[in-house]
Order: sequence, then structure tokens, then C-alpha cells
Amino acid sequence: MSQATTTKGQCLCGKVQVTVTADKPLASFDTLCCHCDSCKRRSGGVASYAFVVPERHVSFHGSAHKTFEDRDTGSGKPMRRTMCAECGSPVCVIEAASPDMRCLQYGLFAGRVELPRPALEMFASKRVPWINEVGKEVRETA
Ligand SMILES: [Zn+2]
Ligand SMILES: [Zn+2]
Repeated sequence: MSQATTTKGQCLCGKVQVTVTADKPLASFDTLCCHCDSCKRRSGGVASYAFVVPERHVSFHGSAHKTFEDRDTGSGKPMRRTMCAECGSPVCVIEAASPDMRCLQYGLFAGRVELPRPALEMFASKRVPWINEVGKEVRETA
């Protein structure tokens, strides 16, 4: 077995902590950027950026975080969006179609690891015009 790599992240207040343990660095997992309206509302910015990591590599510590079930999604499929109950930082997204994957928000790892250019870009037609296309792959649906 190759060397395990551990990467830690946290919400703004630090009450929700996440650890990713895998035999490769966090930056080599799939990454995505989503421009849908729900991701804009929820992130407070113009898009959402996340590492897509299988659940078996992810553990959460500290306070339990809060889950919001988002039924008004761009794809029409419900998504679970979690956040810190204390400071409101977005933590992860769990898609109905991929219940074993955790879309961990880039912000959790700010200042800890390189936040790579996302490989996949979704709902590109909703991208604000002043952001350049970033994804190697661009599609309209999840
Ligand atoms: Zn917090
Ligand atoms: Zn989205």
C-alpha cells in the first residue's frame, strides 16, 4: 500500500473539522465548479467549488453540522447541503445520484492546500460573464 496522505480542513469558526485520508493528495481527487442558482445562493458567491471525495476517505470531527435538503436544484434531483450550525460555512454537498461521494467545499481547505482549477464545470450557461471558463469538461447537468 502506498503512503497515506492526511489533509485537514475546517469551517470558519473551527467547530466543524474534516479529515481526508487517502493514498493520494487531496488535489488529485476530482474537482468541480457549479454555477447553478442554488450553489450561488448557498455559497454567497458566484459559484461553488468542491473536491469530490468518496465517503470512505472522509471523516468529520467537532460539532455536528446541519443538513439542508435542497429540492430546488438545477438538476431537479434533491441534494443534501451541509453547513456549520455555528458559523454557517458551507461544508459539503451530497448528491442524490452519488450518495457515497462527498463534495467538500474548497473553502474548508483555504490556506492549507492548493485549491486546483476545477476539472469539471457544471451549468456553464449560468456562469457570470466576467468569469472565464475553467473546467476541462463543461456540462449543463449533473
Ligand atoms: Zn463553523
Ligand atoms: Zn450547483
